[in-house]
Amino acid sequence: MSFTPADAARIRITGVDIFVYDLPLQQPFRIAIGTMGAANDVLIRLRTDAGLTGLGEACPFPPITGETQATNIAAAQALREVVIGRNPLEIESLLRRYGAFVHSNPSLTAAFDTACHDILGQAAGLPLYRLWGGDRTDFETDITADLDTPSAMAERAVGYVAAGFSMIKIKVGQGREADLERLRAIRDVVGSGIRLQIDANQGWSPSTAKETLKRMECFDILFCEQPVLASDIDGLRSVRRASPIPIMADEAVYGPADAARLIKAEACDSINIKLMKAGSLSAMRKIAHTAEAANLPCMVGCMLESRLALTAAAHVAAAHRNILWADLDGHSSHKVDPVIGGMTFSRGRVTLPEGPGLGASIDPAFLDGLTRV
Ligand SMILES: [Mg+2]
Repeated sequence: MSFTPADAARIRITGVDIFVYDLPLQQPFRIAIGTMGAANDVLIRLRTDAGLTGLGEACPFPPITGETQATNIAAAQALREVVIGRNPLEIESLLRRYGAFVHSNPSLTAAFDTACHDILGQAAGLPLYRLWGGDRTDFETDITADLDTPSAMAERAVGYVAAGFSMIKIKVGQGREADLERLRAIRDVVGSGIRLQIDANQGWSPSTAKETLKRMECFDILFCEQPVLASDIDGLRSVRRASPIPIMADEAVYGPADAARLIKAEACDSINIKLMKAGSLSAMRKIAHTAEAANLPCMVGCMLESRLALTAAAHVAAAHRNILWADLDGHSSHKVDPVIGGMTFSRGRVTLPEGPGLGASIDPAFLDGLTRV
């Protein structure tokens, strides 16, 4: 199906389907600021009068995004009234409209925005990363060892190396000596050839972070994500100045304005961009551009989303040269993977789909079993 410019101007959203999209985990996921037992998501399907449909996923992580599945469902019902009758290709205008209705529901606005981008790519006949000028069809991703005892985390790391991963993200931020033990145990079993990065998820005070990072230098760590509270930009800057390990901002950066603020404060060496924090694919790209202008590299990360939203984020990663790292393993602990097509995730590499738009959909049988609101 090819769209003329006149067709593109005429297309309208005629319906919004809101699905309760629960994905149980194999085991609870533990980080310094909270534990998740399932991905309690919301799936948005936009229908249009042009016969195209778009899909998007909201995967709230309450301690970070401040949303729950229930608040997202309520916000989705409000946004449904906002978008019906609008042109899904007018993405920037729609983002302003979302902002006027739901000030900060980033996962939910991300779902609507992803669905609009899915339709945009289909109308253009191109995968999103191609539409954005990207040329990478695959890239490396890390995999995450969440908080546990040092020996349990080391055992998991061995499994990741056997599965083909050469970059492992290690959750820390819980007990200063325990954190050192976690790194010692993992570095011992994986050897020197595996790249390790750490994520404290705001779990340290600035003074603990400075001392701990100095003591961790010997473990050859690529970078440390969010050592201190997201709101403590002065603290982040002081840790960065003292740390032998580069500092990546994560929870301190939701949208592009946060990125600009942290860059101006010289508070970080790199930024972790996530769809569920940024609130849209557009905002993810604006963060990447803001960082690029300041000569900062970025990572594209995730919460616990399925391969649907991960595929959306992978398109962004593939299209931006200063996105040097990816942490797109959110689905790897899910008991089910209902996504058809989409990115593949194998032996430490993500490969983009070549279909137009997102290039991913949900198994119709799985969709039939979901509650529709
Ligand atoms: Mg992080």
